[in-house]
Amino acid sequence: MTGGYPYPSSAGVSSKMRQQASRSTRPEVALRRELHRRGLRYRVQQAVLTDVRRTADIVFGPARVVVDVRGCYWHGCAEHGSHPRANSGYWETKLARNRARDVDTERRLRAAGWEVMVVWEHEDPVAAADRVQATVELHRPPWGPSTARRGGSAAV
Ligand SMILES: [Zn+2]
Repeated sequence: MTGGYPYPSSAGVSSKMRQQASRSTRPEVALRRELHRRGLRYRVQQAVLTDVRRTADIVFGPARVVVDVRGCYWHGCAEHGSHPRANSGYWETKLARNRARDVDTERRLRAAGWEVMVVWEHEDPVAAADRVQATVELHRPPWGPSTARRGGSAAV
């Protein structure tokens, strides 16, 4: 697939995209590749919250940093998310729900002691990796991942 993401114009397309939602998206893969190239190790699509069924895209367990890679359209980025195309009230409602869910997920993760980073689809993967790497290194426990203590009830 080349070029930008196709925007949904029918419910059929939507259900197809919904099925793919749990898989890795292209910007996610690009970011992961860059992080991996730098020697950073992480888990993908991991459920870090115990009370709700939601997975985090990229998880740095010992540093307790999660990265949420968001599609501009589906999650309503400030630059591209406010121009719905061919969208009826149905899509408006769906997008509003996504945004509300993002806010809720972030709140829950922070409450559980995670540092939450949001990377948008439109961001350059190298620049995004710079941010992620800096944050992970800042939060990484000095004793290293192999001997990292597990704080409280958090199982990583
Ligand atoms: Zn965007």
